[in-house]
Amino acid sequence: MNFKDLGLIEPLIRSVTELGYLEPSPIQAKAIPAVLAGRDVLASAQTGTGKTAGFVLPILQRMAEKPRAKHNSTKVLILTPTRELAAQVHESIQQYGRYLPSRSTVVFGGVKINPQIMQLRPGVEILVATPGRLMDLHNQRAIQFNEIDTFVLDEADRMLDMGFIHDIKRIIKLLPRNRQNLLFSATFSDGIRNLVKGILNQPVEIDVAPRNATVTSVTQIIHRVDKSRKTELLSHLIRKNNWTQTLVFSRTKHGANRLVEQLAKANIEAAAIHGNKSQSNRTKVLAGFKAGEIRVLVATDIAARGIDIEELPCVVNFDLPNVAEDYVHRIGRTGRAGATGIAVSLVTADEMPYLHAIEKLIKQKLDQVAVPDFKPRHNSPDLTTATKNGQLLLGNPKRIGQVIVHQGKAPRAPTFFKGRGQ
Ligand code: AMP
Repeated sequence: MNFKDLGLIEPLIRSVTELGYLEPSPIQAKAIPAVLAGRDVLASAQTGTGKTAGFVLPILQRMAEKPRAKHNSTKVLILTPTRELAAQVHESIQQYGRYLPSRSTVVFGGVKINPQIMQLRPGVEILVATPGRLMDLHNQRAIQFNEIDTFVLDEADRMLDMGFIHDIKRIIKLLPRNRQNLLFSATFSDGIRNLVKGILNQPVEIDVAPRNATVTSVTQIIHRVDKSRKTELLSHLIRKNNWTQTLVFSRTKHGANRLVEQLAKANIEAAAIHGNKSQSNRTKVLAGFKAGEIRVLVATDIAARGIDIEELPCVVNFDLPNVAEDYVHRIGRTGRAGATGIAVSLVTADEMPYLHAIEKLIKQKLDQVAVPDFKPRHNSPDLTTATKNGQLLLGNPKRIGQVIVHQGKAPRAPTFFKGRGQ
């Protein structure tokens, strides 16, 4: 299968060939013909699967056949949860669309609004936006929605996690009814399911990874450990394996701060990122982490979702998440686009129910590897005693392992890219 077989036009084939793409990824093979045919699409796909080209390429092709957008208008609206993702998607549009005439721009908050108003004035065919800034621009009449015929919701699950649901609903109400809708999400919770019902019209469903399954190129390891020795084990692993750029997940903000202090005592440069930190502090810490000055970034789930740090060599679950789906989100940060990654979870006896919930969700038993000198002294309760014994938190049981919109068999092996080093 090659890109031509999917019905793409020459200017698009030329740009992907120049980018070194040899063949379409599984999501591209399914999404491109569906989008070209004007269908709504519901895709379960994480970043790293090539999903951006999956919607950007056919959108560019469809736009090439249509009249240009009028002043202060757009034809395609792509909503993303974060500024970084918005910028990334826009960059892809520019790359893939370099031999086509469509105009595009990106708008997000945290920067001056006036240049964005100026850019929107002549109209653009494709607009990438984060929800808050888009509403501001709409309220200021810098952008009208009445010409929109294609609406893309990217990383819908992150949108909901970040509290954008009301903004999204408000925006959708303002869009013309007759439009094509594309929705991408890594996981499918009840919230997403409700949203899907309200937006999509007989969508083509695409599932490149089994729902809530983890990316196969991530090596997942469990180290059982006593609670009192977790920090010591983490320092040991960082040193022994010479981990750099390690993202460590903590369940609480307080726990994140405490861990940073303890790592500092062990001479490991670490910083925390969570909801109580200011935007300027977060930006500084992130820059330090990306530049390799900060070796370990300790984050809470929500804070980590708002930032664009991906393709990391190593992710550590210092605490297991108590909502099993968060595990999939967390480890999705590593091993992207063909690169291999490692996801290590430090699990104490009282976290075993969480581990069982995760294994049930991802339909996979995770390897438990003993670290010499760190074998736990405490026995873990097994699942039956744990649940009988006062309902130990297993996340929200309704959400676990629930297959919501997926029908049919999903192919395996979601990472596949050939001929292109990242
Ligand atoms: P995405 O999942 O859209 O964030 O894409 C992940 C990475 O894969 C990006 O860096 C793309 O440039 C790259 N990519 C997308 N499609 C292909 C392809 N068919 N072959 C090789 N690389 C690709």
